[in-house]
Amino acid sequence: MTDKVVAGTALLVIDMQVDFVTGSLAVPRATEVLEPINEAIDLPFAYRVASKDFHPPGHISFASTHGRQLFETTTIYPPERLVRQTGGDVEDIAERGLKQTLWPDHCVQGTPGVELIPGLKVDNRFDIVLKGTDPGVECYSAFKDPWHLLPTDLEKNLHQHKVKDVHLVGLAGDFCVKATAIDAAKAGFNTYVVTDGVRSVFDGGKEYDEMREEGVRIIDLVELKQRMLVGS
Ligand SMILES: [Zn+2]
Repeated sequence: MTDKVVAGTALLVIDMQVDFVTGSLAVPRATEVLEPINEAIDLPFAYRVASKDFHPPGHISFASTHGRQLFETTTIYPPERLVRQTGGDVEDIAERGLKQTLWPDHCVQGTPGVELIPGLKVDNRFDIVLKGTDPGVECYSAFKDPWHLLPTDLEKNLHQHKVKDVHLVGLAGDFCVKATAIDAAKAGFNTYVVTDGVRSVFDGGKEYDEMREEGVRIIDLVELKQRMLVGS
């Protein structure tokens, strides 16, 4: 490997954590993405980020928190304390409810399941983004929660590194990868999801249509390598 990088390019490795690969919320066929993701990591990106789902015990997205069955849905609302802290209008909280799938406990801070999967080449070249850290807020996107109460530093850091092209791999394609990719496209980045490095919980394929509709481009690892090696 050389030190030469392709200016303006970033790789986002989404939630490649033990619980999502082999643990309590293992995504089907998730082990297949480790090798393609490691190949992607070796490409000459100018900037690299890994996100981690990083929940406190009793998180709002856990079925156990609500005494409900796994994979049922409920409606969640923005926590009043955060709406107040961020200067929002608490009067319309009841109208800001969102449908939430209830998951097994996963990626709990301090547990083995929260760690990145062994063998993943995430090293000191990476910035780490933690999300879902507030007990009352779900956060699929590595940019921000759906109510924009708790933005991460990701967008600011991408701009600081002069990133124009954002490439995503990781888990799960129909939740956190999709939400992050759509937020990246909406923030004005040229956004690419690399299918060899993605698996989904429900894996219907519809998630790729939804991403395309928002301007996200869907490519495979061969195309990613062509983009990155031609540019270097
Ligand atoms: Zn989560």
